[in-house]
Amino acid sequence: MGEYVLKGIPAAPGIALGAAFILDKQEFVVPPRAIMDKEAPIEIARFEEALIKTREEISEIKKKISVELGGQQAQLFDAHLLVLEDRSLIEEVVKRIKSEKLSAEYIFSEVLKKYVKIFSKIEDEYLRERVGDINDVGRRILKNLMDEDKLHELENLTEQLIIIAHDLAPSDTASMYNKNIIAFATDIGGPTSHTAIMAKTLGVPAVVGLKEATLHIRNQDFIVVDGRKGLVIIDPDEETVAKYRELQDRIVQFKDQFEDVKSLPAETTDGRTIELFANLELPEEVPSALRYEASGIGLYRTEYFYMNRVDLPSEEEQFTAYCQVAKEMKSRVVTVRTLDIGGDKFISSLQIPKDMFPFLGWRAIRFCLARPDIFKTQLRAILRATAFGNLQMMYPMITGVAELKKANAILDEVKRELHREKIKFDEDMKVGVMIEVPSAAMTSDLLAREADFFSIGTNDLIQYTLAVDRVNEQTASLYEPGHPGVLRLIKRTIDAAHDAGINVGLCGEMASDPVLALVLVGLNIDSLSMSPTNILQIKKMVRSISWKDAQVLAQEVLEYENGQEVEMHCRRRLKKLVPLLITDERGEG
Ligand code: PEP
Ligand code: MG
Repeated sequence: MGEYVLKGIPAAPGIALGAAFILDKQEFVVPPRAIMDKEAPIEIARFEEALIKTREEISEIKKKISVELGGQQAQLFDAHLLVLEDRSLIEEVVKRIKSEKLSAEYIFSEVLKKYVKIFSKIEDEYLRERVGDINDVGRRILKNLMDEDKLHELENLTEQLIIIAHDLAPSDTASMYNKNIIAFATDIGGPTSHTAIMAKTLGVPAVVGLKEATLHIRNQDFIVVDGRKGLVIIDPDEETVAKYRELQDRIVQFKDQFEDVKSLPAETTDGRTIELFANLELPEEVPSALRYEASGIGLYRTEYFYMNRVDLPSEEEQFTAYCQVAKEMKSRVVTVRTLDIGGDKFISSLQIPKDMFPFLGWRAIRFCLARPDIFKTQLRAILRATAFGNLQMMYPMITGVAELKKANAILDEVKRELHREKIKFDEDMKVGVMIEVPSAAMTSDLLAREADFFSIGTNDLIQYTLAVDRVNEQTASLYEPGHPGVLRLIKRTIDAAHDAGINVGLCGEMASDPVLALVLVGLNIDSLSMSPTNILQIKKMVRSISWKDAQVLAQEVLEYENGQEVEMHCRRRLKKLVPLLITDERGEG
């Protein structure tokens, strides 16, 4: 048939060649295991034990949720308990273990798949939605029947894989850390969706918004993922494979060229220092932040803590994790961002429908202010951890001063509680504000009076300023980080921060693009925070330019007509200054 090229949106740079694995979230991959006749009763007993254990677990969670969140939320677990009591499902499993002589987990996974299929086709919306319950309970039973590690479909597979999915939720990508995954390709998604962010964190290429990847690619197809150009090539011919293998080698050599700046400061030729921090999604990434000598953690996205679990993380658990990260960062500053649920980040344990949390809806600080119980648990954990490490904290999605004051009032309440309980914490912990909504940028002079620092979140600031959904592939070409409208808001924020004598950093994806980071240096940003693998490139850029020149360039582009023009102009300028950074090999793979 010859090779077939799909075009999508570049989400994380690099090149990968390998076998495709289609991730179908409905499917459970449980390898069949034959049993002997006499083992059938043992398998049936194991199955029954797993049911009992699952029932106990769910009742326990229900109890916990009703204490933490109230009876109504807990009732949702009744549906889970009902699945466990479905006689026809149980009887079918028992019958088939006896007749087919296969392990309990395999038969159960097969019966489960059948149920999921039947329920997915039901017209009644209520019954159709029970698919989620069946899946959840099913996974739990499987986990109790077999080694948890073997349960997840990805974990059953040991070879290197390219994940193909219609969409990947942040909770999916979070569970892929440390797995043998060499690239991602999805049908939907935009350049700063969390699939893209997680791919960069994992240091693997990603292409999103391919529209029909799951239609054209079959399991085990040999494919190439070109994360720089946003291409996926199915059944590449020999020439293409050779070309990409050579490019892969050149990328490795390209990356090596930055090692020389690793231990040097990120300082321009005329002496302006820009602190380079790492973004952190999972505590497991700390070694990478240290490996690239990040000055600290500029953004610790704590919402990953709340994912892939059926309950909320306790104060103790959070406290332990924050302390651990702070300890491992060896006195470098760690900026913990309070819970930013919503948009494309969804927390299953809350049992609140996804459509309650759109990007313009009940998201981030709005949710936390409405749920002080959940918010205060996190604030207590963060404050307690300040006694053991260099931590600061910031709020996401603040829209103005009134909201900031409300959040700080809750923080004060928590501080008073800790005092009463005689629990130690750092009284002077710095509290910052993320500037990621245009109204916050426009009132940054007022916010600066109340905040200890600013961190500009351009992933959101761009989408809210240009009215372009950051995860929508249809409008991805309109998502212009260099748009003068965005740059002016950034400039306003930086100027307001400096007038008030506070620091201002930027932690959106824009910080890791050398072309745009050049403009940010020219706009006088104090620090940039990015996935650790990008730090050295940005340091190379900073060390190769003069601050004065960057300032002149930034002034010029503020007058341009659109973002593409800005990027083209700055790209040309950077190519002259640091040709190395504008080559085909840019990016990591
Ligand atoms: C941002 O919006 O730029 C940001 C860093 O936060 P997140 O990507 O987690 O929304
Ligand atoms: Mg954001």
